[in-house]
Amino acid sequence: MKNRGAFRKKLGCWYNAHARELPWRQEATLYRTVVSEFMCQQTRIDTAIPYFHRWMEVFGDFKTLADAPEEKVLKLWEGLGYYRRARNLQSLAGMLVKLDKVPTSATRWEKFPGVGRYTAAAITSISFGTASACVDGNVVRLLARIYHVEKKFKNISEAVGYFREKAEQLLDDQNPGRHNQAMMELGATVCLKARPQCSQCPVVSFCRAHSAGKQETLPRFQSRKISTTSIDRIWMVNDKSLLLRRIPSNGPRLANIFELPPAENLSLNGCEKTLIKQAKRSIGNQRITERIYSINSGKNLPRKIAQNSDFRWISFDALDAITLSGPHRRWIGEILKKDV
Ligand code: SF4
Repeated sequence: MKNRGAFRKKLGCWYNAHARELPWRQEATLYRTVVSEFMCQQTRIDTAIPYFHRWMEVFGDFKTLADAPEEKVLKLWEGLGYYRRARNLQSLAGMLVKLDKVPTSATRWEKFPGVGRYTAAAITSISFGTASACVDGNVVRLLARIYHVEKKFKNISEAVGYFREKAEQLLDDQNPGRHNQAMMELGATVCLKARPQCSQCPVVSFCRAHSAGKQETLPRFQSRKISTTSIDRIWMVNDKSLLLRRIPSNGPRLANIFELPPAENLSLNGCEKTLIKQAKRSIGNQRITERIYSINSGKNLPRKIAQNSDFRWISFDALDAITLSGPHRRWIGEILKKDV
């Protein structure tokens, strides 16, 4: 691009006038920026906002978060998913409060748990004015259109790598925090995946895909292989308590979070079972069908199950106090509602 200065200026002016009012942008401190960046990884901004408010009321700074019991941290994260983010955020808080000086370089921030290249660039550019460009899905879409790149990418990681150099070249070194936020904001609110709002775009005169009338076709990705799977789960009630499984602490994704037990974890041969709920959901490119069966437990099964440390009988009154995987809390609520 020939006139990068003019591009940065138009983008910056647009952002000053049109940036959404988000809670972490008001009184932007390092702590608020870090929390918001962790929450918004893999989560929509609208979903993250109420969590952010609740979080700030309970954990107002790095020290309070570092000292909190993990269970309390996970409980406040309940429903946001990808719980490793909450654990990493707490570990990061513990590390930061022990440092004499908070680092300002993006490469140093990448060494903290849960901080990848994008998050490091976002935190350090916004909080310290460090010149490091953010490249996420929104920025990829914007740059693919501005530069009219027709290459077909394998996946988003490959596209992020491809556009990094272009993003660094475009970065406004005088105000990298605002520039990064403006690029992402433009991608999120104007340069939309379907039907980009080119008539409202501040950088339309720089956009080669728009000149060619190709904006809606970019960026291009190879189609992903979708895999399908199904999981059978158990609904078992004994003495006003529901049987749940606590995912072991070495579990890959949801360690220490409660869920309705998968049938494969219980020996239920010969038990009478009735399908009471079926739900479909997607994780990445996996399509999962979840079937929940009610089991008539008989007398001996509850006693036998109690010997397995992964399972707990949780009284219905205590369900609100534990941390349940988001979809599981929803399904339990729906089943109970149907029962009433
Ligand atoms: S002109 Fe349209 S396609 Fe190009 S960057 Fe702006 S919104 Fe996106």
